[in-house]
Amino acid sequence: MGSTLAHEINQPLTAITSYLKGCGMILSGIEGEKVALVRHAVNEAAEEALRAGEVIRQLREFVARGGSEHQIEGLQRLVEEASALALVGAKEKEVKVEFDFPSENPLVFVNRVQIQQVLLNLIRNAIEAMQDVSLRELMIRARAIQSDSLVQISVQDTGSGIPPEVLKNLFKPFTTTKQSGMGVGLSISRTIVESHGGKIWAESIPGEGTTFHFTLRTVDKEDMASVEHADRVCGG
Ligand code: ADP
Repeated sequence: MGSTLAHEINQPLTAITSYLKGCGMILSGIEGEKVALVRHAVNEAAEEALRAGEVIRQLREFVARGGSEHQIEGLQRLVEEASALALVGAKEKEVKVEFDFPSENPLVFVNRVQIQQVLLNLIRNAIEAMQDVSLRELMIRARAIQSDSLVQISVQDTGSGIPPEVLKNLFKPFTTTKQSGMGVGLSISRTIVESHGGKIWAESIPGEGTTFHFTLRTVDKEDMASVEHADRVCGG
């Protein structure tokens, strides 16, 4: 859990640090009035890279700690709760929201906080992407794929869309087009979904909108029985 993300983030951080060390060495052999300034900037950048490494370490710990608390949840409630939180202020932003859930309300075995974090991130991104367009429609839907014991959750917007060069790296850490964006939301989302045995992907047409999909395994009667059995055995 979290190791994929930490690995992906640590790799560029290590590269940044080595490049900065290289710069520092080159700078130590150069003289000139602006060199001290550049040296200072390089040192600061190295400090920041270290700080980022520390943030990642803490994030990993956080994700790992929350990773074991899985529960059986009704999908509809799970999605509705997260949406309510994510949609605070959506009305003022004139976003029309629609939900569509399968009538049988599938059950999923998940870490609620983590899956709601994924939804929150997808919905907030969708709302942000619709800020500068006139048609603002958000569709949150779930669809059961019974043959595979899966449910597919989709968040569709009519926003700006994602240019192909961003789409390629969408789930990689630090991919952002926002001035104050960190670009880690989607990579964390991918780590969470994959640790639940699901997949996450996006489809986008620039100028028309974007749809994010992710899958979760559904819980059937057999799974329910084994969870209950484990509960009895563990006395939980
Ligand atoms: P952040 O929101 O901090 O930039 P994310 O990982 O959540 O980080 O998103 C990465 C990038 O993906 C965003 O900066 C944006 O360019 C793009 N993106 C994500 N969701 C959407 C969306 N629904 N519509 C358009 N672009 C999106």
